[in-house]
Amino acid sequence: MADQEEGSEPQPQQTPQIEPPPTEQVPTNVEQPPQQAPPQRQDERGRNREFRNQRPRQPQHQGPRQQGPRREGQRHEGPRQEGHQPRHSGGLEISIVIPLYNEEQSLRELYGQIRDAMERNRNYEIIFVDDGSTDGSARVIQELRNRDRRVKLIRFRRNFGKSAALSVGFAQAEGQYVITMDADLQDDPEEISSLVDELKKGFDLVSGWKKKRRDPITKTIPSRFFNFITGMMTGIPIHDFNCGLKGYRKEVVKEVKVYGELHRYIPVLAHSLGFRIGEIPVLHRARKYGKTKFGMGRFWKGFLDLLTALFTTRYLARPLHLFGFWGLAFFLAGVGVDAYLTYLKFVDGISLSNRPLFIGGILLTIVGVQFISIGLIGEIISKTRTNADKEYSIREILK
Ligand code: UDP
Ligand code: MG
Repeated sequence: MADQEEGSEPQPQQTPQIEPPPTEQVPTNVEQPPQQAPPQRQDERGRNREFRNQRPRQPQHQGPRQQGPRREGQRHEGPRQEGHQPRHSGGLEISIVIPLYNEEQSLRELYGQIRDAMERNRNYEIIFVDDGSTDGSARVIQELRNRDRRVKLIRFRRNFGKSAALSVGFAQAEGQYVITMDADLQDDPEEISSLVDELKKGFDLVSGWKKKRRDPITKTIPSRFFNFITGMMTGIPIHDFNCGLKGYRKEVVKEVKVYGELHRYIPVLAHSLGFRIGEIPVLHRARKYGKTKFGMGRFWKGFLDLLTALFTTRYLARPLHLFGFWGLAFFLAGVGVDAYLTYLKFVDGISLSNRPLFIGGILLTIVGVQFISIGLIGEIISKTRTNADKEYSIREILK
């Protein structure tokens, strides 16, 4: 597993645009205690805020929200260079990480919306991770960067997938809070400040919840199923695990290993390390340009990835606890069944030739032995892994 993780995290091949890390980084590993579990209530937009506390918030956005492009006239005014205002003494506050694959048409609009939304807090960077786009995405981002030095670009040599893109974006992010969002304009940048507000209340990861989802039914129904199963299996009380719009404290993104296609289950990975997970409803919009990058394969891959997420977060270090339990159960059931049939044969003289149960007993015994063996082999692999990930996460050390 660990090998796979290492191997499937491509390093950025061309990162000349990444600025050197600022020297005035603030240590972020000391957390405030979480607030009391907030009661459920509805706010002015009719949102459920069951994971929020009751502290009144500053109004973030005046007036009703609009969908689609906003305030066109305010974007791209001339070739003025931005991003040179002095950073706050606490270092960079927000990193916005955006994985993208062939989203050329959306990028300028997305950038404009982010700039508008972040008008009040300019202490941010936007890290575009171009996941091997074959259209003009990289060129558009270069243009944006020429105008605004807060824009950064990491380009993959080929398409490695959203998890790899997020993983590299996380590695490069310097902000105290890291926001991820999709590049296809389905996520609303106005939500960034809401996510950061929520993080400031003490959560480590705040997930967006596409409560009113603007996607075809072929996506929404399986997604509900996966969310229900994942919530049930993990006990994490959120509705939308795979929302692209999420906020993290910096230490979460530096610790959680996102590989394969596990971006769907980042809250599960973070939760297993002990991070506190929150959720807020977010506005979701229909895809404006292009089409979805995940086909029907998302369903069975999603299911297999759920297995991986559950297994690696619970049993990676003790595989025998899973396989040994079921192996022993099958083995004992098989032996019990066959012992009973053998008793019937010798005591009551009942023939075994027409007893399908006999075969069933043999099958259970064999499967049981195999499960136990797999568990033991797993234990050996787990013990001998040299580059194993640590199995704990430290909140703070007082010396
Ligand atoms: N994406 C990516 N690499 C991929 C597939 C997707 O970086 O291999 C990006 C994509 O450009 C978008 C985000 O991941 O910014 C979400 O993808 P998409 O909108 O296609 O997913 P959906 O909304 O259909 O779940
Ligand atoms: Mg999308």
